[in-house]
Amino acid sequence: MAIAENRSRSEWQELDRQHYLHPFTDHKDLGEKKSRIITHADGVYIYDAEGNKILDGMSGLWCVNAGYGRDELVDAATRQLQELPYYNSFFQCAHPPSIELSRILGEVTQPHFSRVFYTGSGSESIDTMLRMVWRYWDLLDQPDRKLIIGRKNAYHGSTVAGASLGGMAPMHKQGGYLGNIEHIDQPYWFGSDRSMSPDEFGIHAAKALQRKIEEVGADKVAAFVGEPIQGAGGVIIPPDTYWPEIQRICDEHGILLITDEVICGFGRLGDWFGADYFGVKSDLMTFAKGVTSGYLPLGGVMVGDRVSDVLIDKGGEFYHGFTYSGHPASCAVAIENVQILQREKLLGRVRDDIGPYLQKKWATLAEHPIVGETRMVGLMGALELVKDSDSLERFDESDGAGTICRDLLVNNGLVMRAVGDTIVTAPPLTLSHAEADELIEKAWKCLDLTQKAI
Ligand SMILES: *Cc1c(COP(=O)(O)O)cnc(C)c1O
Repeated sequence: MAIAENRSRSEWQELDRQHYLHPFTDHKDLGEKKSRIITHADGVYIYDAEGNKILDGMSGLWCVNAGYGRDELVDAATRQLQELPYYNSFFQCAHPPSIELSRILGEVTQPHFSRVFYTGSGSESIDTMLRMVWRYWDLLDQPDRKLIIGRKNAYHGSTVAGASLGGMAPMHKQGGYLGNIEHIDQPYWFGSDRSMSPDEFGIHAAKALQRKIEEVGADKVAAFVGEPIQGAGGVIIPPDTYWPEIQRICDEHGILLITDEVICGFGRLGDWFGADYFGVKSDLMTFAKGVTSGYLPLGGVMVGDRVSDVLIDKGGEFYHGFTYSGHPASCAVAIENVQILQREKLLGRVRDDIGPYLQKKWATLAEHPIVGETRMVGLMGALELVKDSDSLERFDESDGAGTICRDLLVNNGLVMRAVGDTIVTAPPLTLSHAEADELIEKAWKCLDLTQKAI
């Protein structure tokens, strides 16, 4: 019997209130309200305990790339749990699923990525990446290279390293205490004064890295880290000029370039990784979320030859790893998930079919009187709520436009997220044309309702 059939909705809500501290939640506030209990899902839809069918325009948390209800993924997990539910990769052991996944990841990444280090999540991948970067420079006898440069409004997870490296001010106050980290401005054209063209602005934003390096001294800088497109920060799509200039600056100073691919990886942009989409060659890529389409937890770091050659040639133990590094069931699901992306040609679908289809419709939302800008790459997009689409004047913070819109959306059967007054979407890559139409219709309706409500 499914667990959901045990109790009524109100029983679940009461037990939730009594026992469950949720992530990223004001616990006092939630205690006074009631959670929405999600009981099952299929395709691109989730269902709540009231029986509402809701189009999941967020793929869970940017992760259910292959959609819900995939028996192939369930079977892959079941088979592996029966065969070998757990064994570690410490002490010179390994098992077929983690080895096979490593080979496959070597195939779908750029040629210089031949090795991978596994973790259980995106945050652990970020911690791993930091420790690996520091070890790399230590092994090269350049221990002064400790500084990692990230960006304001970046999201890199929620452990101490993730909270520190990310650029979220409220998180810094609650645990972003790690040293050797600096943040430069983000490439957010709509958030700028828009006096430059987007292409000029892209170069200008990248030059912030150059200035930071000159300020602290290149021999102190270990790495630059960025999400190819910032996800949780509000789907900040950099101008085309940005990433090539970042690459040039990193190369010029010999600094490691790291792309955090936790959202952009595994097809979200119509390529395997965001680095492929933007045509950059990074030295390390952190991944998680879409690698298993969220069916089981898994994360990792793709390690380019520049770094892995040093780790291997210089030797000495890297004192780092997790009990669940390369968990066999998670790796089995990831293998099947990559094969689904390949078998169903989902990357090509995002690039040439559903991507352009949704992008075109999404752009029509810009005609709404409270929308200042729309943007979308692959199946990852945002729209900016404004008081007036001519002057682009923003709503007052106290209006709570984003939150109002998000709540209206979910109550009308569509999940999208609000980041301030930016509404973001990232639906499963399996979204059909009819479902894309439904997403746009519901979005338009809720923009109307938002306008009336403020
Ligand atoms: C979600 C996310 C993380 C953190 O992943 P968790 O699995 O939640 O720890 C890190 N980086 C990016 C870009 C993310 O979107």
